[in-house]
Amino acid sequence: MQRQAITDLTESKSAVQLTLNGRVQGIGLRPAIARWAREMDLVGCIKNTTGGVELTVEGCVSAVKRFETELDAHLPQEACIEKRQRTQSTKSGFTGFEIIGGEAEGPLATQVPTDLAVCSECLAEVSDETNRRDGYPLTSCTHCGPRYSIIQSMPYERVQTGMSEFPLCDLCRDEYQSATDRRFHAQTNACAACGPGIWSTDSTGQHLASGREALQSATAVLQQGKILGVRGLGGYQLLVDATSETAVANLRERKRRFGKPLALMVTSVEQAETLVFLNNSERRELSGPAAPIVLLRARTDSSVTPSVNPGLNLLGVMLPTTPLHWLLLQQCLGPLVVTSANLEGEPLAYQSERIGDSLKSVADLWLEHDRPIERPIDDSVVRWMARRRVTIRLARGLAPCALDLPCDEPLIALGGHQKAALALCNGRQSILGPHVGDLENLASRERYQDQLQALQTLYGMEQASFVCDSHPNYFTSQWAEQQSASLETVQHHHAHIVAGMLEQGWLDKQVLGIAFDGTGWGDDQTIWGGELLLSTATSYERVAHLRTFPLPGGERAVREPWRVAVSLVAQAEGKRAASQLNLTGESIEPFLKIINSERFSPKTSSAGRLFDGVASLILGVTHAVFEGQAAMMLESHCDLSESGSYEIVLQAGKPIQLDWRPLVSQILKDRARGVAPSVMAMRFHRGLAQAVARLCSRYAPMPVVLGGGVFQNQCLVELFVEEFADNQQPLGLPGMIPPNDGGLAAGQLAVAVSRRNQKEIGRCV
Ligand SMILES: [Zn+2]
Ligand SMILES: [Zn+2]
Repeated sequence: MQRQAITDLTESKSAVQLTLNGRVQGIGLRPAIARWAREMDLVGCIKNTTGGVELTVEGCVSAVKRFETELDAHLPQEACIEKRQRTQSTKSGFTGFEIIGGEAEGPLATQVPTDLAVCSECLAEVSDETNRRDGYPLTSCTHCGPRYSIIQSMPYERVQTGMSEFPLCDLCRDEYQSATDRRFHAQTNACAACGPGIWSTDSTGQHLASGREALQSATAVLQQGKILGVRGLGGYQLLVDATSETAVANLRERKRRFGKPLALMVTSVEQAETLVFLNNSERRELSGPAAPIVLLRARTDSSVTPSVNPGLNLLGVMLPTTPLHWLLLQQCLGPLVVTSANLEGEPLAYQSERIGDSLKSVADLWLEHDRPIERPIDDSVVRWMARRRVTIRLARGLAPCALDLPCDEPLIALGGHQKAALALCNGRQSILGPHVGDLENLASRERYQDQLQALQTLYGMEQASFVCDSHPNYFTSQWAEQQSASLETVQHHHAHIVAGMLEQGWLDKQVLGIAFDGTGWGDDQTIWGGELLLSTATSYERVAHLRTFPLPGGERAVREPWRVAVSLVAQAEGKRAASQLNLTGESIEPFLKIINSERFSPKTSSAGRLFDGVASLILGVTHAVFEGQAAMMLESHCDLSESGSYEIVLQAGKPIQLDWRPLVSQILKDRARGVAPSVMAMRFHRGLAQAVARLCSRYAPMPVVLGGGVFQNQCLVELFVEEFADNQQPLGLPGMIPPNDGGLAAGQLAVAVSRRNQKEIGRCV
């Protein structure tokens, strides 16, 4: 009897249902779990749902228990389980463990998978003559390939992606169905026989060659120093040989992109080392699954032609993100300039039928493929500073980005005007969407509205309230005004700070926020941009700011930093000193007359403009091609070994003023003495860092948060961290959410959610 009882016990069965939420789709999680379940002789099923991944396992009690306890160790590396729910299930009579089709129901609660750069195993196959994928440029597997960019709708299933139009051949189907194959349930599985292909066309769209031949002609174009257009993963790109001055100059001319730095693609980390200085984190970042463009300090002796990054000591570098890029680089031996295919200011082109003749003629040859791009996405840009990765542009591989911001009401935050991006909460999850771009023209505004619509549909949102910037003239604010939905506004710099609070998980705290950026609409109708805000997630008090100065000619000063320089000197040393500056070679007497006119010279406290003016004084920069160029050049010039600093005085008052006039006077003295610009540049950065750190210490032990585009400046951030070290207060540096306006929407959303939570609490009390 005893013996019988034991047998019964070991044979008793149980069934458990698990729901996993977080980063669970598009990373090979279902195949990995199915393999583990089969290994344990368990039956059941697993499926993707809008709520994540749902699975039922059934078998001997002990086996089910072991399956559950050891499950985490069997998940793919990329998995991130945020929530795990477990319920006992009834036995269902499964005969094996199956992966079944997904279900869509209600607002999406699971993360949308991000695009993944090609993995090393796929590259090995592509370069193996004996492999059936030898030379196939659209190879992918369960661990790599397009995701977000090909998704039509969630959950992530082949039938709901652009790959649905390519039925699997027998060999690919075998891989897809075989639990032991590394392409088991790879939704993007394809080969040359059944998948999308490549071909080349000339600049009029005329078909030239297909397959290997097309790739060879593309390589030849690059080797001849001509411009190649490539249909990449999330849109079209333009490529040229980065060592050829003529090629790069030609690209700039045709694309009408002057001054702005261009990104590079290199064959390997080893090749990157010949162009830039890398630390271990940066090396890992380059070859990680997101494979963003990493901003790195350039070597002066590299083979890259100087017009790739004029006036800057930074280079944006990435590794090949797809097998197509990798094959091109194998043949050209890189480095190549890789930039998005658009005319300056226009959105990224991604639909072949919508490429206009003017853009078509930019490239000498186009390399096309027919894998649909459902959602256009640019390359991401990141930079390491103070041992942290800071997102400069949230896009391929990083977006959509999950935000830790629970809210059950649907909300859409519209972002700003430059570097626009959307953030939303659909009642189940919150995300920050990919970079769209500056909303200066009709085409980019249309793209922005397309993305709004597309994200709303993807996340299953019908109605939502809107949140926008308080600037009345932003396109996003004006668009929001025209909608019938309810609308609330958030002050620009408060949004930057709350984005930083969200990044740190500090939404429940009071912080001192330092918001340094170009320009934002202030509460007093002036232009803010050098603000210290005592902030909670719902309110703020402007406790200090940079001393204001006139911006002669208003917006024109953004592109003409010499105007700011004159204004700063006039404030610090008087008009007479300003009139003797001689920055442009022209008389500035008439110009000085408008400097005190509120109408022609609006006042600003902008840190970005202070950088511009100082760059003009120190480097003699008179004009900038894009906003922030002068500031970037100033950072590039810093002599890191210099330990001196210029003085900024903390002028008592409400608010306190950071008076930079002594700093400007010292710059003028150093200029007269012939002090090296690199030394002056460093003294300016350190002076600003010291003054802000000193001011912060008055609020210790309150945490400090940095926000705004000025904090893309590695030198400033690292000096600030150094000066801040003795302050005895926590410091929240930027990270995943971009500190620039690309992160604004995340801050707006967090303010709106916090306002709702506050009301909720008010009601309960
Ligand atoms: Zn792969
Ligand atoms: Zn196939």
